[in-house]
Amino acid sequence: MEKIKMTTPLVEMDGDEMTRVLWAMIKEKLILPFVDLKTEYYDLGLLHRNETKDQVTIDAAYATKRLGVAVKCATITPNRQRMEEYPQLTEMWKSPNGTIRAILDGTAFRAPIVLPCIKPVVKNWEAPITIARHAYGDMYKAVDLETDEPGTATLTFKGESGAEKTLTVQTVDGPAVWQAQHNKEGSIRAFARSCFQYAINQRQDLWFSTKDTIAKGYDGAFKRIFEEEYESTYKAEFEKLGLTYFYTLIDDAVARVIRSKGGFIWALKNYDGDVMSDMVATAFGSLAMMTSVLVSPDGTMEFEASHGTVTRHYYRYLKGEKTSTNPIATIFAWSGALKRRGELDGLEDLVKFGQAMEDASLETLMDGVMTKDLLGLVEPGFRATGVDSETFLDAIADRLHSKLA
Ligand code: NAP
Ligand code: MG
Repeated sequence: MEKIKMTTPLVEMDGDEMTRVLWAMIKEKLILPFVDLKTEYYDLGLLHRNETKDQVTIDAAYATKRLGVAVKCATITPNRQRMEEYPQLTEMWKSPNGTIRAILDGTAFRAPIVLPCIKPVVKNWEAPITIARHAYGDMYKAVDLETDEPGTATLTFKGESGAEKTLTVQTVDGPAVWQAQHNKEGSIRAFARSCFQYAINQRQDLWFSTKDTIAKGYDGAFKRIFEEEYESTYKAEFEKLGLTYFYTLIDDAVARVIRSKGGFIWALKNYDGDVMSDMVATAFGSLAMMTSVLVSPDGTMEFEASHGTVTRHYYRYLKGEKTSTNPIATIFAWSGALKRRGELDGLEDLVKFGQAMEDASLETLMDGVMTKDLLGLVEPGFRATGVDSETFLDAIADRLHSKLA
């Protein structure tokens, strides 16, 4: 069989622990036999990030900007415990995802992979709901203050011009807690653009919701900026494709989402997205079946799994055990990146190959061959066998071979 040719490389970011093991297996079994793979490889494994003082993460992000498509393996974000586990670390390096997101000014879209044999908890959900979470500001960059006597808090902004604006927040008669939040117009606008761009790319409606009836100035700005971007840049394309941009209050949105059939993108402010993405992920099944794509306002895309490095499995793997770690989300990260590369370069074969990888994976699951984490989620009466990761990938590879033969 002649291998599928690529013209432009994509950025490949390798990672840590069990997902790094799966990464190599996916390439070996599902991609390299069929594709003349061209990547710019960056090793974001923790020790290599340490050796390069995290420069490799920054280089990978700029390469993504340049090449337009990346695929990323899950990586360890070091915490205190990891510093003890890896004594050679010279610093508690920041989350690679945070670094990449900041450089690409991107929004992460999380979408579940749905299967007929795994019914969502919400029975009327037929198609995936993709959550777009604004990943800058609000509570996540807030400052907090505790006070223990009666008094008054004010909020002052000092402009570079020297102009000042001051507000009284509240006068209190006893101990109190305070918080000041902000967001940046530019960040909200980039968020809006990424959302409209991704909706067009996916051919799906876009929903957006905030609490602008209460937070008239703050959430009102989010609502206004989305409207401005829609009217000025995206409306024509939405109408041409028959797509809808739908704004509603967050309370109303929550009720409508539960009653919906799914199949749309739901854009949310930082905190709402944090909470709702966990709810939607759980209701659809499992973190191991959740993909994530970081989208820049200019359409640059970085694909990854939503889950982490699956540490517990890795330690069993190191002891020589064959683990049953689910590779689906990582496979879909690769297939997503290959399809996007193919779309951008006009390589129909590559797009078809990405789709075949996904079809072969889902058909294998529908045949009842799956990793053990899914056994508890399938419909009663559905006959399924739990296998280890390698056996599962071999079964997918067999299907892929016959599909492409
Ligand atoms: P995790 O790696 O997602 O795993 C948590 C648990 O979820 C696992 O122990 C496993 O449960 C289950 N699980 C997750 N993915 C699975 C899969 N593909 N197949 C089967 N089971 C799966 O989260 P974590 O243990 O909290 O974090 C581990 C490391 O990942 C941390 O160092 C963190 O910094 C990093 N992380 C990275 C990213 C990223 O790069 N995007 C995201 C999140 C976390 P059982 O053990 O019960 O089987
Ligand atoms: Mg959360």
